[in-house]
Amino acid sequence: MNASAKPMNEDDMKRLLEKAGELMESLVYPLEEKVMHEGFTGSADALKAARDQVKAAGMWAPQVPEEYGGMGLPFRPHAQLSTVLGRSTLGHYVFGCQAPDAGNMEVLLELGTDEQKDRWLRPLAAGEMRSCFSMTEPGRAGSNPTWMDTKAVLDGDEWVIDGHKWFTTAADGADFAIVMAVTEPEGPPHARASMILVPTDTPGFDHVRRISIMGDEGSGWASHSEIKYEGCRVPKENIIGGRGQGFLIAQKRLGPGRIHHCMRWVGIAERALDMMCKRAVSREVAPGKPLGTRQMVQAFIAESRAEIDAARLYVEHVADTIDQKGVHAARTEISCIKFFVANVLQTVLDRAIQVHGALGITDDTPLSHLFRHERGARIYDGPDEVHKASVARRILRGYGLELGSIGK
Ligand SMILES: Cc1cc2nc3c(=O)[nH]c(=O)nc-3n(C[C@H](O)[C@H](O)[C@H](O)COP(=O)(O)OP(=O)(O)OC[C@H]3O[C@@H](n4cnc5c(N)ncnc54)[C@H](O)[C@@H]3O)c2cc1C
Repeated sequence: MNASAKPMNEDDMKRLLEKAGELMESLVYPLEEKVMHEGFTGSADALKAARDQVKAAGMWAPQVPEEYGGMGLPFRPHAQLSTVLGRSTLGHYVFGCQAPDAGNMEVLLELGTDEQKDRWLRPLAAGEMRSCFSMTEPGRAGSNPTWMDTKAVLDGDEWVIDGHKWFTTAADGADFAIVMAVTEPEGPPHARASMILVPTDTPGFDHVRRISIMGDEGSGWASHSEIKYEGCRVPKENIIGGRGQGFLIAQKRLGPGRIHHCMRWVGIAERALDMMCKRAVSREVAPGKPLGTRQMVQAFIAESRAEIDAARLYVEHVADTIDQKGVHAARTEISCIKFFVANVLQTVLDRAIQVHGALGITDDTPLSHLFRHERGARIYDGPDEVHKASVARRILRGYGLELGSIGK
């Protein structure tokens, strides 16, 4: 997001990570239990107070340029910081760099008009507004984003949007949505859709429900909604970028977002390993024999250590490539880390639960919440299989085999 940002030296980076770790200990972990029991919306005041303290500590919105009130970090330091914030599902929210707002900020920063920036980007970056991104539809395979039914037709000076979306994360209580809708039905598949900004109080924006996921429908930012757009009219100036540019912008938006998710997952996996080790030394299976004396548990620990380190180094390498050569140059590696790190995360979380025995699946530790919350990691921002197919397609092209693109 912040190409003009200055690189950081190692000492500065170390201090930054330590400071973030202290704020996680003092502000974020203590909130987890409250949010678990009272929900995101029920904890709004406490979350706001924590955000205010992060702002006062000068750690707000690490990825956002300083002119918009953020820290203006380059990609690599922000990615590293994400591993610390990622140890709790609340970390990114409390520090003002949570999905989907972070991605929407990026799009508005790069492509928004001056008016869109003043009206939507500034308050979003300041944490005074929330937003959502509405692309996936229940009736069409989300893994082929060039194929969708939602349409927007220009009628005089207004777009009229009709369609049905779901899994619009954080739509509950959001101030605006960025909606993907077909505006050029006769265009080539990758140039049919556009992104249009829709305030959620627009007549015809119908918030149908928060979708219950693994027994939890969540609330506010921590939820995923089904939305109907029925004759929803917004000014024609609400288009972002050009007509038919939606798919290209979505690809750009998702590239850095995937790295942020990966670093967040490394953070969660570190926390799970930490908990696994603490349990391995404290739980005795026989007098004087803690679990950690058992070789199968030792193998869990050693394998997790190696896998997390591999994941972290791979993600940092890709972050460097993005800083130096841009997102396009890193697109194959971004796909690789997306499926690789999501699977490391899930494996390590599963081992940590296993080592905790029955306790592991209760809500008395954060593990089961993390496991439920992150099962989607292998599905959102492109399922594993789609990323693997895309990596293999590029590799095989080098061997002379052309496999076509998504949707063929
Ligand atoms: C927690 C979470 C949050 C989300 N947030 C948002 C959001 O904010 N906004 C938004 O618009 N969407 C969001 N999504 C939706 C997400 O982007 C889609 O779920 C994803 O693109 C997959 O689409 P689908 O669910 O329709 O699965 P489908 O496209 O129906 O695919 C189903 C399965 O088929 C397999 N598959 C698909 N394609 C291929 C292929 N080419 N080769 C082999 N196998 C394949 C995969 O295993 C895949 O999981 C979210 C999803 C989750 C789980």
